[in-house]
Amino acid sequence: MASSGQRVVLITGCSSGIGLQIAVLLAKDEKKRYHVIATMRDLKKKDKLVEAAGEAYGKTLTLQPLDVCSDESVQQCINSVKDRHIDILINNAGIGLLGPIESISMEEMKKVFETNFFGVVRMIKEVMPDMKKRRSGHIVVMSSVMGLQGVVFNDVYTASKFAMEGFCESLAVQLLKFNVNVSLMEPGPVHTEFETKMMEDVAKMDYPGADADTVRYFKDVYMPSSMDIFEAMGQTPEDIAKCTKKVIE
Ligand code: NDP
Repeated sequence: MASSGQRVVLITGCSSGIGLQIAVLLAKDEKKRYHVIATMRDLKKKDKLVEAAGEAYGKTLTLQPLDVCSDESVQQCINSVKDRHIDILINNAGIGLLGPIESISMEEMKKVFETNFFGVVRMIKEVMPDMKKRRSGHIVVMSSVMGLQGVVFNDVYTASKFAMEGFCESLAVQLLKFNVNVSLMEPGPVHTEFETKMMEDVAKMDYPGADADTVRYFKDVYMPSSMDIFEAMGQTPEDIAKCTKKVIE
């Protein structure tokens, strides 16, 4: 239970990567300013988070199951924390999808939007009315540099992040008068399981139907230069967690 004066922060996708690090950093805040509700769709994956949280686990950090693609799961999660007002919502959960659209099914594409776009909308719809009523709150959304610029063979992923950017910019204007902030985070490359999976996808990717010049550009120019950027400028999930903490402070 959050003690008085503590801000309650609900974070999605805390089983790994950026979400896990934000949850741990906030839960270990020296001044104990935050009570973190760390959520993940499969609580069997909690060990890494629990270990990283150390003594904060069960005190300033509690766990809840949450699948952002399920209306029922989102409602259950929000109902289970109803006795506490959510001061800060951090929409971090997200998935990638790489490849030419000729080789990707509509189902896979919809899954990306269902998670990266509608997953965020679903959470905001549940949490926003209370924030408006209390005239206080902060909604943070983990977009990406790919929410600002399209990237070859990342068509659907970038589209989902672009959509999120438009949604948040429109929402931010409407929420200003209620003293509710909306912040978009736009990280470049971050070393997480997301990156590992992307590299695995590239290794086994085939390109049926894709234009040969585009494939050559992707393999010979885009991927090698991306690897250089990763090496030179890739950030850690801890870096992004620190930026996120600054944004909500
Ligand atoms: P990870 O793959 O490490 O983490 C993604 C998290 O999202 C996991 O906890 C995953 O849970 C969770 N998740 C996926 N689908 C759902 C769902 N339906 N409901 C709830 N949780 C779900 O990747 P990152 O930490 O790198 O990614 C976090 C965010 O940062 C994403 O939104 C991503 O787009 C964004 N980002 C990442 C960058 C990078 O280079 N890594 C760069 C820019 C932005 P599970 O373990 O169950 O799969």
